Amino acid sequence: MGKALNLRSLLRAGQNINIADLDSAATPGYPGHGKPDSEELTAALGETISDWQERFYAESRLDSTPTRSILVVLQGLDTAGKGGTIRHVFGLIDPQGLKIYAFKVPTEEELSHDFLWRIRRQLPGRGMIGIFDRSHYEDVLVVRVNSLVEEEVWQARYEIINQFEAELAEAGVTIIKCFLHISPETQKDRLLQRLIDPRKHWKYSPGDVKVRRRWPDYMTAYEAVLNRCSTEVAPWYVIPSDNKWYRNWAVARLLEEHLEELAPDWPKADFNVEDEIAAVEQSLA
Ligand code: ATP
Repeated sequence: MGKALNLRSLLRAGQNINIADLDSAATPGYPGHGKPDSEELTAALGETISDWQERFYAESRLDSTPTRSILVVLQGLDTAGKGGTIRHVFGLIDPQGLKIYAFKVPTEEELSHDFLWRIRRQLPGRGMIGIFDRSHYEDVLVVRVNSLVEEEVWQARYEIINQFEAELAEAGVTIIKCFLHISPETQKDRLLQRLIDPRKHWKYSPGDVKVRRRWPDYMTAYEAVLNRCSTEVAPWYVIPSDNKWYRNWAVARLLEEHLEELAPDWPKADFNVEDEIAAVEQSLA
């Protein structure tokens, strides 16, 4: 097995993206031989990520270290696998270090504030890894496609989002934005599987097919997101997601690469270790 190098540069959204030109079944940077290797490769990443995550959290407990956190944004159409990614990738990490939040249709209260209000409330704290299952991008995706606000309102949001993310990056948040890209055929298969298997009926909603009919409009909206909101401090990564095993491996590897770069270290004890060993040994006889 070869070593996967810099998946970030391989998956980073380019300029003037036309989603139809991107292969949703591709496996860029994958170091194994397809699905048979994937469990082992992803599990190995899980071990490294767990170790980094523990250091990241431990380091944040010290007042002297700068405030840092990680925010993973997962976007994709129904069945792209946001939930599956959370289960398979983030299931490898100590849940105490994670803050997972799924954004639903906004409540009345949320709608009474600006669109970033509910987002800010769910940001990960110091030393934490936050995962957004849907995000502020819904406000330029579903909202745009269904004309839930005037065009001039959603048009202004791309720039507002870029400024917001720049502000987060400045405050020590490492942002990893993943667009889980599937083909319409894959979505059809997955929706049919949900209908065929009674254990999966709960995952299906008759509204899913209405959204599916708007596929071209969603692609236009996603292209605008990728082309207008992939910035130096918060780039988008396009994850080919027709193969679940590749999707899981790729998101895990991206996370590992970012942690590797952040290189958190175990905090040094602020007490004399020898003295404390002696104290413990002598305590309670
Ligand atoms: P998932 O596919 O993530 O598992 P779901 O479809 O099972 O989610 P739902 O309860 O349907 O879960 O919640 C997600 C719904 O909320 C989606 O239809 C999404 O478009 C909608 N939504 C999220 N954010 C917004 C927003 N800002 N404005 C309008 N609708 C939104």
